[in-house]
Amino acid sequence: MKHGYNTSVSNENTTLPYDLIIVGAGPLGLAAACAAQTLGLKFIILDKAGACQSLVEFAPRQSFYSPPEDLEVGGVPFPLAADDKPRREDALAYYRAVVTSRRLPLQTWERVLSVHKVGEIFEVKTRQEPDGAWEREYSARNILLASGVWDQPVTLNVPGAELHKVSTRYVDPTPYLWKDCLTVGGGNSAAEVAMALCRAGAKSRMALIEESLEVCNLRPFVLRELKILVDEKKIEPHFGVEVTAITPTEVSLRSRSTGAEETLPNDFVFTMIGAVPDLPFLRDAGIAVSPEDHRPIYDPETFETNVSGLYTVGSMARNQHIVNGRGNAVGVVERIAAKMGASAA
Ligand SMILES: Cc1cc2nc3c(=O)[nH]c(=O)nc-3n(C[C@H](O)[C@H](O)[C@H](O)COP(=O)(O)OP(=O)(O)OC[C@H]3O[C@@H](n4cnc5c(N)ncnc54)[C@H](O)[C@@H]3O)c2cc1C
Repeated sequence: MKHGYNTSVSNENTTLPYDLIIVGAGPLGLAAACAAQTLGLKFIILDKAGACQSLVEFAPRQSFYSPPEDLEVGGVPFPLAADDKPRREDALAYYRAVVTSRRLPLQTWERVLSVHKVGEIFEVKTRQEPDGAWEREYSARNILLASGVWDQPVTLNVPGAELHKVSTRYVDPTPYLWKDCLTVGGGNSAAEVAMALCRAGAKSRMALIEESLEVCNLRPFVLRELKILVDEKKIEPHFGVEVTAITPTEVSLRSRSTGAEETLPNDFVFTMIGAVPDLPFLRDAGIAVSPEDHRPIYDPETFETNVSGLYTVGSMARNQHIVNGRGNAVGVVERIAAKMGASAA
């Protein structure tokens, strides 16, 4: 059955395309939804799980580095005790409050399977999650992809990468007490995992392609804390190396400059080396993708992809900070509203 915006309650079969369908109810999808509501667009927002599923999957009590006002969307205040940084649980409660206080038309547990443009209209196919109880079709004049990259973490392409001890997710350090752990990556996530493991009594090593901590793109307070733990020999960094093989009890590293190999004892590996969008989904939608970082190619001013009427914002569009991405999301919706106003006139 095709779903659309009902022109009249008494005639349920008469449907028009939505002005906008927003894919993904992360912080940026919610920012866009609030703007669409304010501007009176006919829209829905669809998420394959609940709101902000990526944040749900953060480690418990994970803190944000941004102050609460930088995580706000839709003008809904994010109150927090003075001097506190928001934690995962604060942010989740906040974004739930955004959905409920703004009464956003969010349809949860409904995965967008495909988006195809036929003429001037997008056909959107969805499926109930988690068990595929039903499928639906919608039509829309514009699509905003705010589905992020969280679900497609980059994995190592080396022998042993498929072992159970290798993980792209980190939840809690307790299972790793006294265990030999290697965190792969030189970003903030890798640094935070390595530090959490070390503080909870694991033997914590890092493998970084970077030659020093200073050239890693770390937030200042993360760099400061990590340097202290490295100086105190509580974390053992291996700089300028690549992982070449993993066995149940060891990892092998190779120097990128000399080619020298070393093998370390190892019980668990955490690969924190980034994420990419859902490429089959993008290609199926006809969206051109950059060969460098596999992100959609889009107009940097309008965030419109090569498929006209199909926009992308947030981490899908290389934006790592909600404070910047939310303005982009609102801008996209404002341009769509202007366009819809013009086409209605
Ligand atoms: C540990 C950590 C700390 C961070 N701290 C900060 C910080 O302090 N400040 C800051 O600004 N940023 C921070 N970030 C980054 C921030 O979390 C991301 O920038 C933000 O979550 C990206 O939002 P998004 O809306 O683009 O995507 P996401 O938050 O990833 O949301 C995407 C949504 O789309 C849904 N989805 C995916 N595919 C589909 C589909 N096919 N159909 C329907 N729905 C789908 C998902 O379920 C999800 O709910 C942090 C990130 C991490 C990992």
